[in-house]
Amino acid sequence: MSEPPRPTDPEHPESELREALRQREQELALLRETSLAIGTELDLDTVFKLIASHARRLIHARTVLVPVINRDGNEYTYRAGDGENAEEIVGESLPLDFGVCGWVWKHKRPWWRATLSELSPQERNLWEREAGTLILVPLMGHKDFLGGIAGINKEGGGEFTENDLHLLELFAGQAAIAIENAMAMEDTERALRAAGEAQAELKRMNKRLCAANEALEYLSLYDPLTNLPNRSLFRERLREDIAQAKRKGTSLALLIADLDRFLEINDTLGHDAGDSMLKAAAERFTGPVEKAGGLLARMSGDEFAVLLEADAAGATAVAERMRRKLAQPLRLTGHEVIATAAVGIALYPAHGDDISSLFKSADAAMLAAKQTGSGIRVFDAQRDAGALDRFALTQDLRKALDDGEFRLHYQPKIELATGAIDGVEALARWHRGNGTMVPPDMFICALEQTGLIAPFTYWALERAMRQRTDWLRRGWDIHIAVNVPLSVVLDAHFLPELSRIVGPHRGSNTGLVLEITENIFLGDYDRINGILADLRDFGMGFSIDDFGTGHSSLARLRQLPVGEIKVDRSFVVAMLDNADDEAIVRSTIDLAHNLGLKVVAEGVENADIMVALARLGCDLVQGYHISRALPADELEKFVAHAGWSVRAAARTSAEG
Ligand code: C2E
Ligand code: CA
Ligand code: CA
Repeated sequence: MSEPPRPTDPEHPESELREALRQREQELALLRETSLAIGTELDLDTVFKLIASHARRLIHARTVLVPVINRDGNEYTYRAGDGENAEEIVGESLPLDFGVCGWVWKHKRPWWRATLSELSPQERNLWEREAGTLILVPLMGHKDFLGGIAGINKEGGGEFTENDLHLLELFAGQAAIAIENAMAMEDTERALRAAGEAQAELKRMNKRLCAANEALEYLSLYDPLTNLPNRSLFRERLREDIAQAKRKGTSLALLIADLDRFLEINDTLGHDAGDSMLKAAAERFTGPVEKAGGLLARMSGDEFAVLLEADAAGATAVAERMRRKLAQPLRLTGHEVIATAAVGIALYPAHGDDISSLFKSADAAMLAAKQTGSGIRVFDAQRDAGALDRFALTQDLRKALDDGEFRLHYQPKIELATGAIDGVEALARWHRGNGTMVPPDMFICALEQTGLIAPFTYWALERAMRQRTDWLRRGWDIHIAVNVPLSVVLDAHFLPELSRIVGPHRGSNTGLVLEITENIFLGDYDRINGILADLRDFGMGFSIDDFGTGHSSLARLRQLPVGEIKVDRSFVVAMLDNADDEAIVRSTIDLAHNLGLKVVAEGVENADIMVALARLGCDLVQGYHISRALPADELEKFVAHAGWSVRAAARTSAEG
């Protein structure tokens, strides 16, 4: 530690010299110590503080301040201070050109007493006050001009000497290096911190990406509407389970459940109702499937799949529970609907030992279940294989339509009272090029699912109209009923297409009857009513098909321009053995008559049923007992040769 310099003794020059030397040594020691202290410090604030305190000791100043030029270069800030009043000034910032500092910055030279003589008279006036009591040396870094060290007021009075100036300049050289080091360190730290932050941000982004990925994966594996696994996930699980079953020698069951009449619900009640129905089906299937430890998935549209470790009996039991659950009434946009589904079952390894053959078999069984109305069917290679390949089928449909592979057959409707032919129902047949015959339920279903049902229906109407015209020309005036899905009737193209088909016959009685299923009671009633009224004005008749299977309201029927209803064949076929079915047929006939509607019974397979229907007052019958659907020329022969016997049969039935 140094003491204030003692006053020199003019009487003793030798001792004065010695004293000066001693002082010099002291100063150099202090300078070394100081340089060492600040040279090893890397924290910038500490460096500034050290500079201030050591400089003050070095030049015996009452106050030392360290003004530093800010990074943006517009201002300088007193970064540290030591001694009197230092605390008040530290932290303060001033414009770059302000005060003595401004002068030093500008000239990159120290300010001290002697500087005054170099100034212009004007500047001298301005700074004179400061001279002597102020010393300010610049801090010149390696790269940049950093700021300065200012000493204010010499301890014990007096002025700063040239020696003070040199000492402070020497010190400032060391200090600048220390500052630059610390600044570099600070920069590095800032960069590191930034890198750390970048890394953290990267981590956060990564997390978000993972979440997005998960969501994507979820979307790619789950169906967003029902939240069930989708086709991809299901097929993956099936693949794994097949591999496992192969190893363990166990069996698996694949179930395909397809909702009935889903497209019609969608078309008549709207897509929201369709979505609600799918959600309800998913919920209702979940319980029974989970209980059996199986996997339920939504495959597409209205098709669900189940994977179970079960045999035929076990799988059938689950399918039954699923169907029972599903059959509870469902409210859709104000309408009560009973949802039903057909379930096809295929077993591993009996009905296929890989994914695609298992799906093919289950699909075939499901279609057979739909076609036969059995609801559930376990695949049977002999019955279901071959023609029931829906996938190949779908591709062939368009070609069949283009190549004219479809034919219409005609099944007579007989008036029970007279035995006369009242009309015929046109039923489509498809003999494929390869000789196989595809059941109508199947290709109609496929046509509906591929969107080809509209062109197909126009084809059927056109074909029927041509047949009717041909018969008319030959003097036979007979109604032809054509099956038309409600979705097609409601389509905007229907009226223009029909007007093209009916041509000159429009406006009068066209002799065409549209057979529409009873889902006509669902949906926008006013709209349907309006469309049917337009069609009636066109000269079309209407028949409500499959009556009793859906949700009917005979009261509503009265307000529609409908002339007849057809009691579904499922009731007719069983009416002699089943009292409930008989009651349904009986009450339907009575109610319809009260409303002025004619009743057709379809599926009349034998004389006993015909007799029973005649007793109940049924108007018309249709069924194998009278005739199957026949090609036009065969129907003509049937009428020519069997006309009387039909009439006779009818009469005996009516009497018997
Ligand atoms: P559907 O409209 O209910 O037609 C009556 C079905 O009952 C016909 O089956 C007919 O052959 C059958 N059938 C007639 N008499 C009897 C009988 O005594 N006993 C039994 N068990 N069945 C009898 P098909 O021809 O196999 O047609 C099945 C379904 O395919 C039809 O049911 C109809 O929904 C649809 N379909 C057939 N042709 C067309 C068509 O041209 N257009 C549309 N949209 N659907 C059609
Ligand atoms: Ca029909
Ligand atoms: Ca029917």
